[in-house]
Parts: sequence; structure tokens; C-alpha cells
Amino acid sequence: MSKGVLENLYHVAIAVNSIDEVERIYETALGLKVAHREVVEDQKVKTSMLLPEKGGSAIELLEPLSPDSPISKFLEKRGEGIHHICFAVDDIELALERLKAEGIKLIDETPRVGAYNSKVAFIHPKAMNGVLIELAELSEEE
Ligand code: ZN
Repeated sequence: MSKGVLENLYHVAIAVNSIDEVERIYETALGLKVAHREVVEDQKVKTSMLLPEKGGSAIELLEPLSPDSPISKFLEKRGEGIHHICFAVDDIELALERLKAEGIKLIDETPRVGAYNSKVAFIHPKAMNGVLIELAELSEEE
């Protein structure tokens, strides 16, 4: 069944200075609801996943936990804004094998643990026209 292919747009991630403030804006302006908040120590970020009431693709907010977080560096250089887009895949190991076979430059050669118990890997933005793309294999229990 698994083929290592994209399933759908899972989320668009936005780097922000304060999740508390931005959650309120996105809830009010777009009617999104906070579905999940989590601290990912490994990435030194706080995350919040906002979903439309009827389901579908999410907005993920990313706030740095410390000045050496990759998100701090992004905010310093570019300010708040879109950080990456994430596609769900059915089998991330297979997807990475396929990308390697195509010679696509990866940030993660092997998946790491992301938010919400998913397995994630990033493709290098240089390989994707300046866009940082995340692949995520979602855990069954969510
Ligand atoms: Zn993400």
C-alpha cells in the first residue's frame, strides 16, 4: 500500500515572535481553532496547530524557545512570515529513498521525531526553489 508519495498539504508553518498573540489574530480573522500545542525541545520551538472547524490543512505557528533556535535565526534575518510548508506522506522512509535516488538535496537523510509524534524530514530549500519543504508521516493515534 505505502508508496512514499504525498497525500496532502498538512500545514503551512509561520514563524512568529509570540504564539499567544498570533493565535488570537488567526482565530479571530480566519476562524481557526487551536487543536494542539507542543514544545519540541529538539528544535527549541514552541508550536501551535490551528485548524479550520471543518478540518483540512492547518496553520502551524512556530515561536523560538531560545536565541539559538533555528526560528530565532529566521526571525532575525527575515522577520515574521512563512517558514515552511508541510506535506503528509504515507511512508517517509520510502519518500526519502526516492528523493535520494533523484539526487534531491535533503536536510534530513533520515526522519526525526516532530511535533504530535510524527516522523518528519526537511528537503533543502535550494533544491525546491527557495521553499523549505517538510514531509511528515503522521502517527496513527492522531
Ligand atoms: Zn511543520
